[in-house]
Amino acid sequence: MREKRDWSDIGQSTSDASRPVPSISDLSRFSRPAALAVVVLVAWAAAARAADEAGMLKLNRRLHVPEQRGDGSLVYKPNWGPIEWDPKKTAFIICDMWDQHWCQGAARRVVELAEPVNKFAHAARKRGVLVIHAPSTCVDFYKDTPERRRAQAATLAKPPVVLSQATRWGTRWCYPVEGREGELPIDDSDMGCDCATKCEIRTPWTRQIKLIDIEDGDAISDDGQEVYNLLAERGIDNVLIAGVHLNMCVLGRSFAIRQLVLAGKKVMLVRDLTDTMYNAKSRPFVDHFTGTDLVVEHVEKYWCPTITSVDLLGGQPFRFAEDKRR
Ligand SMILES: [Zn+2]
Repeated sequence: MREKRDWSDIGQSTSDASRPVPSISDLSRFSRPAALAVVVLVAWAAAARAADEAGMLKLNRRLHVPEQRGDGSLVYKPNWGPIEWDPKKTAFIICDMWDQHWCQGAARRVVELAEPVNKFAHAARKRGVLVIHAPSTCVDFYKDTPERRRAQAATLAKPPVVLSQATRWGTRWCYPVEGREGELPIDDSDMGCDCATKCEIRTPWTRQIKLIDIEDGDAISDDGQEVYNLLAERGIDNVLIAGVHLNMCVLGRSFAIRQLVLAGKKVMLVRDLTDTMYNAKSRPFVDHFTGTDLVVEHVEKYWCPTITSVDLLGGQPFRFAEDKRR
């Protein structure tokens, strides 16, 4: 039934949704005047971005849409298109960016990821987006702070579906929905440590990493109902989500992708501001970052579109230093 899915639930449709975004290397085939025109257009776009400071968030969403082939099988193709979101009706959720991790490689990457996540949060906040910090199982660290109290005090709101009551790893958990989602494209059954010496699994995290600022007006919660209440109270329909790890908590936590999509929210993953627990020695035997890209594609096929941080920050998408692909 997947090919029958109506993607209108994920944002407004667009007339040029199928047009791919040109890459820098595409420009080399243009003549000099054409290249200059491109430069002018780029400058114009930057000016438009500045002019939009107080207006709508202009986002370039990507998803993977199914096409039926002659033999009846499905092939998924990337599809880009513009979406405008009202920042006042948008939240940015930061998932499980803890101060520590049992896997040293994962912990190192979180330190690296924290800076662009923090910049993205600042840019979003400045535009009027509600920033929600969700360091699962660590919210008691923030007990009695205004940001934690704000989440606890939000008026109880009834979601259109019963939120999952299952639990995993210390919070409510939304497992894959039968018939909606294919198998994950990576084998994470070894928990995904890709360090030379296998790290011992334990729970060393105590709080969100200090490199991400928590500011006036933000909220702190690791609970799907609390997050739903916060969103309902402010009339927020749109959620941007970033953080770790995409194959686990960013999909499964009760405030994260699966549950929010099922509860009727329009969700978009910030795909360059995430990471996976994936060991390249496991199926499908690709490097760590290609593994992450495969899970991003999985999300775009079955759950929600994605954007990159460029839509708010300009510049280039974030890349980990260890990502040696070109
Ligand atoms: Zn490790």
